[in-house]
Amino acid sequence: MGVSRKSSVSAVLRPECHRSPGLRHGLVHGEASVRGLRHKNRRAREPPGHAYSLRVVRHYAHFPGKPKWASNKYHLTYEYAPGTPQLFFDVIPRALGRWASLTPFTFSRASSYESADLRIGVFRGDHGDGSPFDGPSGVTAHAGAPYVGIVHFDADEKFSDGVEDDAFHLETIALHEFGHSLGLLHSSDPTAIMFAYTNHGQKKDVQEDDINGLRNLYGVRMSK
Ligand SMILES: [Zn+2]
Ligand SMILES: [Zn+2]
Repeated sequence: MGVSRKSSVSAVLRPECHRSPGLRHGLVHGEASVRGLRHKNRRAREPPGHAYSLRVVRHYAHFPGKPKWASNKYHLTYEYAPGTPQLFFDVIPRALGRWASLTPFTFSRASSYESADLRIGVFRGDHGDGSPFDGPSGVTAHAGAPYVGIVHFDADEKFSDGVEDDAFHLETIALHEFGHSLGLLHSSDPTAIMFAYTNHGQKKDVQEDDINGLRNLYGVRMSK
């Protein structure tokens, strides 16, 4: 499946997401992603005499320049590119609903694909945004930072609704990609939804590190 839509996509399109750090096809882009990581493993300094102070370890990261949605722009619209498989119509709303349950963001379908804040598509190979997909294995999907708005899945991967040994759990992948859409980059915490690597059959949910990353970015409470 190709796409004729010519989009101007800035460098914040990256990072791309991978299923395994050891996979041959994942290495080149994997390095590019790792370069963008900001490791924040600093321990909160314990005040003298305070034996029980909480040690906060941060693993999350933001895009360079910390792009984020404006405070009057917490309702985002989304729409699917023509030809998007039914599976995505079934699963994408669940992933967005999960983020909506954990953050101030809300989501609804847009009146058109072009006008949507989040433009979701399933594309193969070179699809016009300067970050061609690489066939089976390697890059699974990619998404842009806030206001870039693209959320693309590699049509050469197998995605599933439920957990299957030979497919990517689509809701897990979508949760990760929408994390990019909200302003999160990759986390160094392997349990975080924003960890760069996922495997076939792996089901994950949003974790505290991910929420902390958004709270830090937006400076607001992240629970409803
Ligand atoms: Zn990613
Ligand atoms: Zn793309």
